Amino acid sequence: MDISIVIPAYNEAESIPELTEWISRVMQENNLSYEILYIDDGSTDGSWQTIERLADANGHIKGIKFKRNFGKSAGLNAGFDNCSGDVVITMDADLQDSPDEIPALYNKVKNEGYDIVSGWKKKRHDPFIKNISSKLFNRVTRFFSSIKIHDFNCGLKAYRIEVVKSIKVQGEMHRYIPLMAKWAGFTKIGELVVQHQKRKYGKTKYGIERFLFGFLDLLSIIFVAKFGKRPMHLFGTIGTLSFVSGFLIAAWISYDKLAHIHDAVKARDVVDRPLFYLALVAIILGMQLFLAGFLAEMLSRNNVEKDQHHIATKLGFGGE
Ligand code: UDP
Ligand code: MG
Repeated sequence: MDISIVIPAYNEAESIPELTEWISRVMQENNLSYEILYIDDGSTDGSWQTIERLADANGHIKGIKFKRNFGKSAGLNAGFDNCSGDVVITMDADLQDSPDEIPALYNKVKNEGYDIVSGWKKKRHDPFIKNISSKLFNRVTRFFSSIKIHDFNCGLKAYRIEVVKSIKVQGEMHRYIPLMAKWAGFTKIGELVVQHQKRKYGKTKYGIERFLFGFLDLLSIIFVAKFGKRPMHLFGTIGTLSFVSGFLIAAWISYDKLAHIHDAVKARDVVDRPLFYLALVAIILGMQLFLAGFLAEMLSRNNVEKDQHHIATKLGFGGE
């Protein structure tokens, strides 16, 4: 199969039929074999019934229904686990992304050797405040990731299948998939300017809190990528440094005290010296950090992943 199109949808019943028809038309015109994978992220507006109805009429359509709303990242992740085309395209369900862009995206991955091609909504049709904050978000992410693309959060992207099979998207991390892919060893990342439409039906599923959560996710992704496999390297190093310096200070205070006693000179009380408290804190903190590192290390070794626990129903995969 040439293309898997992965579409997370949360209450998008009005858009789904139109989107499906549009995609099918583009695929036929370009002679591409394809599957469309809708992930219904706990919709309450009849999106799943719509998907079922469309799947009955069109053999290319598959569906995954979540038990409740788990978020766009979980949706993409389920799609990635269950898709099988050579090139995987993700897009939003709300008709803001145009299926007409798919052949060009496909071509860049298939024939120009890109691992990922990210859409770039150069001219956006979203509220002003969102456009501004999105610019800022992209600047920060570009800086931290040193990936030179302009629109990390663009829903329309194309991946070589190996890329999506080797990353796990959770939390709100769909914004950082290019970064995860880069760390997984896929470095040929490109972008393509794409058309963007105003939302036709329904309304956006995100408020302004997306930027705070997005930033926290960036921190945790950097942390996990750098130290997730070896937490002891971080905690152990700081812990040991802290413990050793505390120990040295305590040793020096003791020596000083003993030396004074030996010379029969009156010395300050140990508890009268600020350094003593510093040493105490450093020793305790050091042991705590060391322990935290040790526990994290045990956890990361025992982390059995239960990947498919979001899913309530699957449609069109055969063999169930
Ligand atoms: N979405 C989802 N689960 C959620 C929130 C959003 O699957 O919890 C889907 C939504 O249906 C749409 C895409 O993610 O297909 C992008 O969402 P939206 O259009 O609300 O975001 P915006 O375009 O405002 O960034
Ligand atoms: Mg949208």
